[in-house]
Amino acid sequence: MIKDWTSEYEAELRAVRNLSRELAQSNDLLAGERDALKQWSRNLLALNHLTQVLTGSLDSETIVQSLFTGLATFVPLDIIGLVRTHPHRVMTWSRSPVFTCEEMQVRERLLRRFPEGANSSSFPTLGDDRHTMTIPLMISQDTQGLLHLERRQGTFSEAEFLVVSTVGTSLALALRNADTHRQIQELASRDSLTGLLNRRAFEEVLARELKAGSRYSASACFLLVDVDHFKVVNDQLGHLAGDQVLTTLAALMRKAVRDIDAVGRYGGEEFGIVLPHTNLDRALVLAERLRRQIECQAFEAGEESVRMTASIGIAHIPDMTIRSVSDWVAAADSALYGAKGLGRNRVVVHAQGQVCSIEKSVLACT
Ligand code: GH3
Ligand code: MG
Ligand code: MG
Repeated sequence: MIKDWTSEYEAELRAVRNLSRELAQSNDLLAGERDALKQWSRNLLALNHLTQVLTGSLDSETIVQSLFTGLATFVPLDIIGLVRTHPHRVMTWSRSPVFTCEEMQVRERLLRRFPEGANSSSFPTLGDDRHTMTIPLMISQDTQGLLHLERRQGTFSEAEFLVVSTVGTSLALALRNADTHRQIQELASRDSLTGLLNRRAFEEVLARELKAGSRYSASACFLLVDVDHFKVVNDQLGHLAGDQVLTTLAALMRKAVRDIDAVGRYGGEEFGIVLPHTNLDRALVLAERLRRQIECQAFEAGEESVRMTASIGIAHIPDMTIRSVSDWVAAADSALYGAKGLGRNRVVVHAQGQVCSIEKSVLACT
């Protein structure tokens, strides 16, 4: 029998062709999967980096800025909205000025949906049309806020939803850490009896104002207020009654100044007030008004009501003789010393190394 070599050869050739076509298709598929894996690996790196940046900061503003700029690098999106619960704030970001109007709409919608005090807890959701996703920022039952994303063109995938949910967990932890840090800082800078700035925190304010003064020639005043004969209150009415007077005095001083002014408890019955952007004339008006208010107030002290007076020393910058915080404190202290020496219950100013007493008002208390 004669073998048909031609047809056998053609059949094998066809099989080889088919095989090589399949191989090419598999290669294409593999190349596609390799690209997808590369993309995944890039995304995982970016996710890892963002998580580290978020949890590596203790400042909530920095955390939010890092989120806004970092998230969009591996999850393409147009608008981000963030609702924070404590304190209540809504912040938004958009990829380009083209979305400014939409960004405002998101902001208004979030403000309406989560008004102050409203609890933003809910489940993570991918919007019905998949153009939006909403991730509550929860730590156990504790709500930190809510993350809202929008992609105006195109939809979010399940994989992206999972990635953003992971970012949400890191974000919630980072924001809570920042809050705790802020609260600890706040506690560490306050005097426990009066709630005013303690001496360390107060001297930081003095240092800041001194720096601003030398950089921008801004004027500022430092008032050192010392209660006159305070020991008598303690001796006659007891330490607790003395504490009560100090607390009332602190509240009175806080009320007497503007929001931008800093009030601190400098020592036992000594208080400091920093008046930024204030010239000597205005500081004198405030000091004299404060002295009068103290003089006219009836302070509750246990079962009793007592009258107190205070002496006030003022040191003003710019001043050639004041180059450091300790110079500034020494200047105010020497003015205060002058006020005590002149008979107490008065305001004395330290000016360019000189100490001068100010005529005090002699109106009767009403
Ligand atoms: P001067 O007019 O010279 O300032 O007399 P003074 O009695 O106010 O001053 P002195 O320095 O002799 O006494 C200050 C007193 O303040 C003594 C101290 O026991 C009291 N003191 C300091 N810290 C506290 C506090 O936290 N609570 C109470 N109740 N008293 C305090
Ligand atoms: Mg005193
Ligand atoms: Mg004193």
